[in-house]
Amino acid sequence: MNDVVLTGDRPTGPLHLGHYFGSLANRVLLQDLHPLYVLIADYQVITDRDLPGEIRRHTTELLLDYLAVGIDPAKATIFQHSAIPELNQLLLPFLSLVSVSELGRNPTVKDEIAHSSQSAVSGLMFTYPVHQAADILFCKGTLVPVGKDQLPHLEVARLVARRFNERYGAVFPLPEAMMGAQPLLKGLDGGKMSKSRGNAIALSATEDETAALIRKARTDAERLITFEEERRPEVANLLTLAGLCLGRAPAELAEEIGDGGAVTLKRVVTEAVNEFLRPVRKRRAELSEGDARRILAEGNERARERAVRTLEEVRVAMGF
Ligand code: ATP
Ligand code: MG
Repeated sequence: MNDVVLTGDRPTGPLHLGHYFGSLANRVLLQDLHPLYVLIADYQVITDRDLPGEIRRHTTELLLDYLAVGIDPAKATIFQHSAIPELNQLLLPFLSLVSVSELGRNPTVKDEIAHSSQSAVSGLMFTYPVHQAADILFCKGTLVPVGKDQLPHLEVARLVARRFNERYGAVFPLPEAMMGAQPLLKGLDGGKMSKSRGNAIALSATEDETAALIRKARTDAERLITFEEERRPEVANLLTLAGLCLGRAPAELAEEIGDGGAVTLKRVVTEAVNEFLRPVRKRRAELSEGDARRILAEGNERARERAVRTLEEVRVAMGF
């Protein structure tokens, strides 16, 4: 089967190592094999906050992060929600395909409500997974490289595709999630590493900022370093980070550090992360904001053409 790959990120802050090992690395591999669409999900920013914040700056920086990790705009279509009105039009028929109780029991939505900065939960918080189904289905996406938090949303997209096909005829393929090397990388506080939760190591951070962040990470009082995910989650998380960056098993690193304690552990992690990110950071420094804007304008145009065609197909299938 000829796969089409779609995935995306919210422009809420700089991309971090969780994105890299959860999704970006797969995108870079897949762009050589299949058409790749990368969505800057700007409308999705206002699901868990009242205002979009510095949306333009975050959008440009997200694009620079993509280019820095090796997403190639000659192969990938990079685009943003707010430039594709047809995506919003797909939302309406798609909303008719899911029930209120299905929307209410989405575990990722529940987690995001728990971390939301809003005093009241908006309707968008419950309906954005359906908007995300439109993101995936507008280009007939079949393969979606995402982190673990996205699995419930993928189920919504599959449900929407299946029910649309049942009611109106076969229009959409059923998309599949594709997990990365680390589907749920934890942040420096032990929770999911997230742009908006102040616990992330940004791909674009400086070496000194990275060192300072890792220095503040929690460990425990035991001097001998061991890899025990259940009993010593903080230490295990740091070992996992270093292991991913070095391409080595965390338990093996623990053995090497031995009774070097938290100080040695943090030195090893800092060096591993900074070494791993050096080429990414170097490439990012060579890019300009003008490049980013031009690439986004081209991507928006291509994505919009695709969305116009799918919306037309949907209207015809529904008999409008
Ligand atoms: P925010 O806190 O603003 O929601 P985020 O860090 O959760 O930011 P998103 O833009 O919501 O990032 O997610 C983009 C993609 O990155 C999704 O596919 C998501 O599954 C993946 N991802 C995000 N955080 C992690 C993580 N810690 N580990 C693995 N994958 C992740
Ligand atoms: Mg998120």
